[in-house]
Amino acid sequence: MKDILDVHIHTTASRHAYSTFGEVIAAAKQKNLELVGIADHAPSVPGAVHKFHFVNFKVIPRDAYGIKIVMGAELNVIDYSGSTDLPAQILKKLDYAIASLHRECIESGSVEENTSAIIGAMKNPHVVIIGHPDNPQFPADLDAIARAAKDFGVLLEVNSSSYLPNSHRTGSAENAKLMLAACKKYGTKIIMGSDAHIDLDVGNHELSQKVLAENDFPEELVVNTDTEKFFDCIRYRNSLKPKGA
Ligand SMILES: [Zn+2]
Ligand SMILES: [Zn+2]
Repeated sequence: MKDILDVHIHTTASRHAYSTFGEVIAAAKQKNLELVGIADHAPSVPGAVHKFHFVNFKVIPRDAYGIKIVMGAELNVIDYSGSTDLPAQILKKLDYAIASLHRECIESGSVEENTSAIIGAMKNPHVVIIGHPDNPQFPADLDAIARAAKDFGVLLEVNSSSYLPNSHRTGSAENAKLMLAACKKYGTKIIMGSDAHIDLDVGNHELSQKVLAENDFPEELVVNTDTEKFFDCIRYRNSLKPKGA
């Protein structure tokens, strides 16, 4: 499958990641990506960047170094209604946001609570992607999530790092089966993400590709094949924002 974009990448701005902005760009070019997206952790994760990190994205050209660049954030969902941890005036500086549940920021609730947290985050039009929704640490109704993602025009992530044998999100591949079956049923689009914390992993979707192949997932629902498919999702989500947001 053609795979020319990766928008779930962390840099040294998140202090548990190990490559700089420049190293990430260089790695993306070396892997022949057409689009690279940096989504450092929003402030609730320990050691994450200060919120001012997200305010100055205007200095970063979006088409430079011979590659398209988008600048975003990986937001933390912080309650079961789907609130996230950057205020609206900062969210509007981002090209896109990923919203994820992380144990450092919210305890797993019941299936109903976790599902409501994820679907609640989709109601925020700055959110374009739900990060690692198949994480078994947060059991959720993946059928309802896939249906809501289709309705809201939000992408569900197939996160390569989740399927590593040493991942703390053990069991994600099993949950991915349920999630991908529901995505096929509803026509929900997905995005592969590396969740790279070092330049070597930029664009590394090997395990995501394997999970998609094992589940016979249709290529037309994968946005990594064409940058316009991803930009279409951003445009659609932008169209839902109130004026000036
Ligand atoms: Zn995450
Ligand atoms: Zn991440």
